Amino acid sequence: MRLNGTMRVNKKGHLEIGGCDTVDLAGKFGTPLYVLDEDCFRDICRDYNSSFTRKYNAEVIYAAKTLLNLAVCRMVDEEGLGLDVVSGGELYTALKAGFPEERIYFHGNNKSPGELDMALKAGVGRFMVDNMYELELLERLAGKCGQKARVMLRLTPGVEAHTHEYIKTGQIDSKFGLVIENGQAMQGVKRTLEMNNVELKGLHCHIGSQIFELSSYSYTAEVMMDFAGRVYRETGYCVEELDLGGGLGIYYAEGDRPGSVQDYAGIVMEAVLEKAAHCGIPVPKVLVEPGRSISGPAGTTLYTLGAIKDIPGIRKFVAVDGGMCDNPRPALYQARYEACLANKVGEPPAEVVSVAGKCCESGDMLIWNIELPAAEPGDILAVSCTGAYNYSMSMNYNRLPRPAMVLVNGGRADLITRRESYEELVKNDLMPEKLAKK
Ligand SMILES: *Cc1c(COP(=O)(O)O)cnc(C)c1O
Repeated sequence: MRLNGTMRVNKKGHLEIGGCDTVDLAGKFGTPLYVLDEDCFRDICRDYNSSFTRKYNAEVIYAAKTLLNLAVCRMVDEEGLGLDVVSGGELYTALKAGFPEERIYFHGNNKSPGELDMALKAGVGRFMVDNMYELELLERLAGKCGQKARVMLRLTPGVEAHTHEYIKTGQIDSKFGLVIENGQAMQGVKRTLEMNNVELKGLHCHIGSQIFELSSYSYTAEVMMDFAGRVYRETGYCVEELDLGGGLGIYYAEGDRPGSVQDYAGIVMEAVLEKAAHCGIPVPKVLVEPGRSISGPAGTTLYTLGAIKDIPGIRKFVAVDGGMCDNPRPALYQARYEACLANKVGEPPAEVVSVAGKCCESGDMLIWNIELPAAEPGDILAVSCTGAYNYSMSMNYNRLPRPAMVLVNGGRADLITRRESYEELVKNDLMPEKLAKK
């Protein structure tokens, strides 16, 4: 397993993160346990800040959907990043944490009137409008509140990012955004410019996630800038802000070759600057919205091994006390992970096993064919790079309580999300009188 952030092997031969022995963490907080490496999370935020914000005066917005709770909101705020939220629930979390409203960007392809209203009242910085229905709705709702909503229009640039079918979004046949190619994007811009309660601040796109080819970004920037040039020629409107979305890939397992944040910034900004000169328009303020590349490497999940089932000549299954409930990604889109036995990191690999979850689904497998030291019940399995789209996608299938999360740094572990209790699992269940046990 590749060691991320502050991970190291301590004198006991145990995996350590943020100066905390993960075997002790498992003992103290129980498993499954999400462990968030504070230094790792903040260092990546700083890398984005120095590569984009300080170098090019661009803005970096953290995609909350990848990992969000109150503590994460505060770290993002302290690092000076903006926050991209996609629902009333994420917005509520941000407001609860005291995140500055003007640095909140509200995304989503079907925001409800209630959610738009909530965001208007909160005074969020930008509404990322996805479609004409939302645009007209926002114009009406903003008028009712006597507000001017600052919007960016989400466009579909027609770029096919090389990634999994479910996580690519830039192609024309997508549920997100107004299509440039068929004229809907230009119609959207023109309609927005006529509106009274909505102010057009710029254009947005997001071509997908877990992208390794940085040329996908420069190509997208060129398509968006060409469109900005056309907008200027047809309407006289100068695009002030250009948000190019997130999606930078990360290393999960053998074969993944992500680009660096610096290279990503260089390639994107070069394309924008060149096209601005070419189209004869001012350089817009560029925004990027990384999620996975910030939270992903900072997270590790600890599990306890239980049942071990050997089918001689076929496969050895080792089962953990979690699975698709705390990490649905392998079942959802064949995501791959690396892992180690946290209490035996120093030992050489002894066998090839497959890691099974405990849910009642044959598809609940976390890792196929991984080399581990001889595994025994009670060993602690650490799966790396689980910071993004794990806790945020977790669920209660089989009525498994959601795991706890600890923030580790300098030998100290702070509980930042409590483990769900059985009592909480039934807290919304109601018993109609006719079924009540007499
Ligand atoms: C999901 C998403 C992001 C973040 O994507 P990552 O791949 O996690 O970096 C950014 N912007 C939008 C609009 C998104 O939907």
